[in-house]
Parts: sequence; C-alpha cells; structure tokens
Amino acid sequence: MSKFTFPSIKETNELSRLRLEVRKFITECINNNEFIPAADSWVFAANPEFSKKLGSKGWLGMSFPKQYGGNERTALERYVVTEELLASGAPVAAHWIADRQSGSQVLRYGTEKQKLSIIPKISSGKCFFAIGMSEPDSGSDLASVKTKATKTAVGWNLEGRKIWSTGAHLCNYMIVLARTGPPSDKNRHEGLSQFLVDLSLPNVNIKGIPDMTGQRHFNETLFDNVELSEDALLGEEGKGWSQVVGELALERSGPERFLSHFTLLDRFINEFQNKLLKSGSNIIGKLIAELQTLRRMSFSIASMLQNGESPETQAAFVKELGNKFEKTMVESLREFSNIIPLYEWPDQLQNLFEDATLRIPSNSLRGGTTEIMKGIIARQLGLR
Ligand SMILES: Cc1cc2nc3c(=O)[nH]c(=O)nc-3n(C[C@H](O)[C@H](O)[C@H](O)COP(=O)(O)OP(=O)(O)OC[C@H]3O[C@@H](n4cnc5c(N)ncnc54)[C@H](O)[C@@H]3O)c2cc1C
Repeated sequence: MSKFTFPSIKETNELSRLRLEVRKFITECINNNEFIPAADSWVFAANPEFSKKLGSKGWLGMSFPKQYGGNERTALERYVVTEELLASGAPVAAHWIADRQSGSQVLRYGTEKQKLSIIPKISSGKCFFAIGMSEPDSGSDLASVKTKATKTAVGWNLEGRKIWSTGAHLCNYMIVLARTGPPSDKNRHEGLSQFLVDLSLPNVNIKGIPDMTGQRHFNETLFDNVELSEDALLGEEGKGWSQVVGELALERSGPERFLSHFTLLDRFINEFQNKLLKSGSNIIGKLIAELQTLRRMSFSIASMLQNGESPETQAAFVKELGNKFEKTMVESLREFSNIIPLYEWPDQLQNLFEDATLRIPSNSLRGGTTEIMKGIIARQLGLR
C-alpha cells in the first residue's frame, strides 16, 4: 500500500512577523471602511482596487520570479499571507484564481512572450483569470470536454461552451481546456490542449448564472467561432491533460477549503462567548481542534510545494476534510444558536450565517466532488 504523509512544519519567527504585518494592514483597511468581512470572500468579494493594493505590497505573485514582476518569496510566506486574508474575509475574489493557479500555469508552460505580457500584471493585481474546464456535460470527467480548437492559417478557431466559470464576467483571461485532436484507442486523455483566451475577443459571450442566493458569481461562457492567434496555445499541443491535472492540484491545495467561513466562527465566538462558555465550550473546542489540524496539514502541503513536490493526494485529502469541517461547523453553530433570541444577533453576523448556510452545499462540488476526491485518495492507497 502506497502511503502519503504530512511532514510537520513549524512557523518560524520570520513567518510570524509577516503574519502580524498582514494582520495590521487588514485591521487598518477594516477601520478605514475599505471592506466589510465577507463569507466565502475568495469567490464572492471582488474588489479590483484592493487587489491592486495587495499587489503594491508585494503580496500577489509572491513566489513568482522577479524577472516577471514577481516577489521570489517562499510558498510558506505566501501561505501565511493567504491564510490571514481568508480568515479576515478580505475581498480577494478578483485576483484569487490568477494568483493561485493561472499565473503558475503560465510560468510553467508559457512562452517567454506570454510570461512577460501576463505575469507582471498578475503580480500587480491588474489581470484576472477564470477557469475554463467544466462544460454542461463534462464536470468530473474532464477528458470528455467537447469544446474544440481547430488550427487555421493564422492560429486557432475556438468553438464550444464552458459552464460554472467563476468570476469570468470580471476577468481578462480564461485558461480553456479544449480538444485539438481525437483521443487514441488506448488513451482518452490524448488530444487535449490548453489555451489562454482573451475574454474581450469578438464572439466570446459571458452570461451570468444566478446561484440559489440570487448572486451572479459564476457564468456560462460561449465561444462561437472565436479566432485565436497562434500564441494563444498554452504549453504543448495535445499535452493538455497532464497540464490540467497539475492545475487542479494547485486549485485544491490551499487553506480556502476550510477557511471560507472562518469569519462566521470568529464573530460567533466573540459575540456569544459568555453563553458558549456556559453550554457550548465542547462544540467550540472540537471545532478549533479540527481547524488547527487542518491548518497544520495545509501548511505542510505548502512546504511540499516549496520543495517542488506535487502533493495531489494530500491536497485532495485536505479539500475533502475541509469541506466536511465547514459543513459540520455551520450545523454545530446552528444547533447552539437555537438558544439565542433573534434580537441578540447583530445584522452582520446574521448575514454571515445566512450566506454560509446557503453556500456551503456547493463546497463539495467546486474544485472536484467528494467522490472524485475519495477516488484520488483510494488510488494512492492502492485501494482501486
Ligand atoms: C461554486 C462552484 C464554482 C465552480 N467554478 C468553476 C470554475 O470556475 N470553472 C470550472 O471549470 N468549473 C467550475 N465549477 C464546476 C465544478 O468543477 C463541477 O461542478 C464539478 O467538477 C462536478 O462536475 P459536474 O457538476 O458536471 O457533476 P458530475 O461530474 O456530473 O457529477 C455528478 C455526481 O456524480 C458523481 N460522480 C461523477 N463521476 C464519478 C465517478 N467517477 N465516481 C463516483 N462518483 C462520480 C459526482 O461526485 C457527483 O456527485 C464550479 C462549481 C461550483 C459549485
């Protein structure tokens, strides 16, 4: 049986100092009314000005090379900054995907021209990305995508339809997974390629899909005969499968999988601490212990990324446990909240609670479903 591990990593004094620096900055922003802490802020709270501000502090593109406008800091430093921003419900949605995964994809597979034109803009918080993987009949089984890119005399012609594209209506680019050739008899993952698609091109049509809170954060994105230049191809033609698998590992590996609703837990404890001390300390104790364990595991993943490893299984594990944790957290708080009369609830806390209740069901879909995560873990353990 092939096992996987989470090496124990300690936060150094230097990292703790960085953590305090970010915390101080966030407190100042909140005190200046620059933002109100939001639930699921990496999906729902987009504020391009705030993104630019983070860019100017050197907290975007943190680990990217300096020659492309990055900051050459470590994955652990990036982890600390990310954790603080998430825990405070800061408006990070505009740049989230670009900073988390698209920039790294461009750095890893892009041409020099692509890197020079895109990475500095990501690092300064001026260029935002969407993920173009899922399609109406293709989610978990990504190899079945039907969006097609055909070679032309000047580049590529893109035809197809992507769905659930988070934030695409606010983004400059989407990395689109498309079929550029047929799958082979032996390997259905062959013949896929990734493209850097400029979303302002003619014949790209982005239509919002309201979720059950009525908000429009994801979209259907239609490509109807879109002319792409030759250098829109990202990486090697036909190697899109291995590229997209690497991108998914980046998508799943961060602390957003268990800190999306930390603002709710934090506010709830602060607001009702006297009542909780009387009859809810066991609930809170259990939640904090689980949260601390998840943090240690996620920190460990950041250290593996720093060492150039590919912790796909560990990321799937933390994503799955993180989803479960957030679900249990809201359920536990709801049970306890029955004893608190409505008039004792501050409006902001009630909003956080309502948002969490409505949004948490989607956690076990976005970024890969529970069954898919368990499948990845089972394969690593040699169980399938
Ligand atoms: C909030 C949110 C944001 C999203 N943002 C994006 C985005 O920005 N870009 C993007 O491309 N996509 C995005 N998605 C789409 C997301 O990645 C897909 O919903 C997900 O991959 C599941 O695909 P599906 O919805 O087609 O479900 P399906 O794949 O049809 O799955 C339906 C059910 O069948 C189960 N199932 C499927 N295959 C297997 C299997 N082999 N073994 C066992 N069970 C299986 C699944 O676990 C699930 O329960 C987002 C989704 C949500 C909810």
